[in-house]
Amino acid sequence: MAGLYIHIPFCRRKCHYCNFYSLASVKYFDKFVDALQKEIKQRAHELDEPLQSIYFGGGTPSMLEERHLSRIMHTIFSHFTILQDAEITFEVNPEDITEAGLQSFHNHHINRLSLGIQSFYDRELQYLNRIHSAQTAISAVELAQKKGFHNISIDLIYGLPNATAKSWENNLEQVFKLNVPHLSCYALTVEPQTALARFIEKGQLENVSDEAFEKQFEILIKKTEKLGYQQYEISNFCRDNFYAVHNTNYWFGKKYLGLGPSAHSFDGTTRQWNVAHLKKYVDSVNNGQVSAESETLTLIDHYNEFVMMRLRTQWGVDSSLISKRFGQKMGAHFTSIASKYLKSGHLKKSGTIIRLSEKGKFISDGIIADLFFTEEQD
Ligand code: SF4
Repeated sequence: MAGLYIHIPFCRRKCHYCNFYSLASVKYFDKFVDALQKEIKQRAHELDEPLQSIYFGGGTPSMLEERHLSRIMHTIFSHFTILQDAEITFEVNPEDITEAGLQSFHNHHINRLSLGIQSFYDRELQYLNRIHSAQTAISAVELAQKKGFHNISIDLIYGLPNATAKSWENNLEQVFKLNVPHLSCYALTVEPQTALARFIEKGQLENVSDEAFEKQFEILIKKTEKLGYQQYEISNFCRDNFYAVHNTNYWFGKKYLGLGPSAHSFDGTTRQWNVAHLKKYVDSVNNGQVSAESETLTLIDHYNEFVMMRLRTQWGVDSSLISKRFGQKMGAHFTSIASKYLKSGHLKKSGTIIRLSEKGKFISDGIIADLFFTEEQD
């Protein structure tokens, strides 16, 4: 079973923190949709398994007009085998949600919405340069539910300098009050080359702080548990088994095809990423082959990805598999590093499965980096 990712590279305006590939202009929208349809036809053969999930991300997929969505969906459905119960997710910005748009999503088999809300506080939304207001976000969720969408995910961002422990707690409570079954929470990171990085450098916006992150991450873990959400991945929470199928398949190393500028693909051994430039993307597809780079994963890369992806999830790492899959050296390395963190209580073991403990979740990046194997150790 495989996944399909479609990257829609347009936004109404850029959020200060964003480093995803997207353009705040719709100049090439029609040319992009033409090229995307061509890329679907050119590359559908690369997946030899039926699709268990389709994910429209970006950028802002909800900027697609119905005529665009119809053409894209028609091309996807005529070139892939899609499982009857496939998860089809559409990323939507709250300001784009309308009754007509929701009806169009139903008509085009979309059965899961991922809403980029980020915060239910206007002052926090302004810091991030989001277009919507807190009230627009609430109304968008309510309208989507009224129109029959219950498999909804909300994205929130924590660690904002103008957030408080209370506002962060209230943000989480608001998701619960809205009866939304899935939540993705990301720490605000100041990426180089973003407007946020420039504003902070010039002293026009307040910088983020490690203490705020730690405090808000702690609140996140405690509060979500209290509200009945299960932390099934370090940044992802759900109730009633509303796991995100598409993302879970990434963490389990399943194959996926990524189409559109900057989209990544993985066929089990090779990772490929399309050019992150709209004009180059369109021209290359029109010339018969998308401009892309690729790398073939070594055994060490496979081990590092396996450890990183699994340890971030509730399913953990099955330590009995490491030597069998990756050989004695990596098996011994894993056992030796893991035992150090088992002793310190940052990892816990149940049978052969090793997982992050509650306190380990606070330093997960460091533990994972320590478990990595390098060529020098080979
Ligand atoms: S809407 Fe999403 S993709 Fe677009 S600029 Fe904002 S964060 Fe980036």
